[in-house]
Amino acid sequence: MRPPRIHVPAPPAPTLVAPHGPQHARRTRTAAAALVAAVGLTLTGCATSPPATTSTTDRLSVVAAFYPLQWALASVGGDHVEVTSLTASGAEPHDLELSPQQVADVADAQLIVYINGFQPSVDDAVAQNPDGALDAGADVERLDVASGSSASDAPSPARDPHIWLDPRNMATIIDAIAGRLSALDPANAKTYASNAMTTKDKLNSLDRDWASGTATCASRDLVVAHDAFGYLAKRYGFTQIGISGLSPDAEPSPAKLAEVTDFVRAHDVATIYYETLVDPKVAETIATETGTATAVLDPLEGLTEGSTQDYLSVMRTDLATIRQGQHCT
Ligand SMILES: [Zn+2]
Repeated sequence: MRPPRIHVPAPPAPTLVAPHGPQHARRTRTAAAALVAAVGLTLTGCATSPPATTSTTDRLSVVAAFYPLQWALASVGGDHVEVTSLTASGAEPHDLELSPQQVADVADAQLIVYINGFQPSVDDAVAQNPDGALDAGADVERLDVASGSSASDAPSPARDPHIWLDPRNMATIIDAIAGRLSALDPANAKTYASNAMTTKDKLNSLDRDWASGTATCASRDLVVAHDAFGYLAKRYGFTQIGISGLSPDAEPSPAKLAEVTDFVRAHDVATIYYETLVDPKVAETIATETGTATAVLDPLEGLTEGSTQDYLSVMRTDLATIRQGQHCT
């Protein structure tokens, strides 16, 4: 059973509200902490310092479903938010299973940012907290999953979830997060707007560098481990050929392997890309059979454990990888 939603009752005296702003309206870590803080303020009035818990409970506690959304939340929220990710570093997010504690955290979160249709267990959990949920894909033009792109017979999701690999989609997500954080915490709305502007400037710069850096590539066919790069391919004029379909764990059928192998030979594909969080065995098999090079192209579904990179730096590494692998001059 999850703890009840915190509702700090209306303060007995107006002095509680005015000097401490919207703090009373925010969710604090526990109901007990909120009550202790409220009682403490009532008893001591404003003559003494606020309780020592203020600095930690003052930050909005927000939840991201997985890494790129965690980065977006932290970029906009800055010092005013404490972001937790449901997907641990080094874990592949597609098949995430939530612990009972995580399900409770999602149900209680003031804000949970996720992508509808990407992680079924997260979709189930956010259904318990529609007011706190923000679907990062809601304002993004979603691509249909190409029919036949999945090697498995299981029904595919109707929409490709990998929206974060187009920097312009990330800018849209940044705006949505800024709007939601400002609504939750109006006192810091200017900071959120400013952080969002700074982040979008960096995303615009990234987008420009990708556009110019891939304008002259000799090969426009991207053969990748799984269909994560549909949005990126569309944005920068590539055709994606995914080996494992939409989910990296789907075992490609022999027919699919033969199809990709034939494609690689017929189109003189120079490089087959595999991923950081997924076993490269299948990509290496095709590369060996066709005499093709392999390279790591990171779909940014998570950072490897201990990584000091972030969304922007990984995207720039991917650009360098593509420029080499696709023979861009
Ligand atoms: Zn994926």
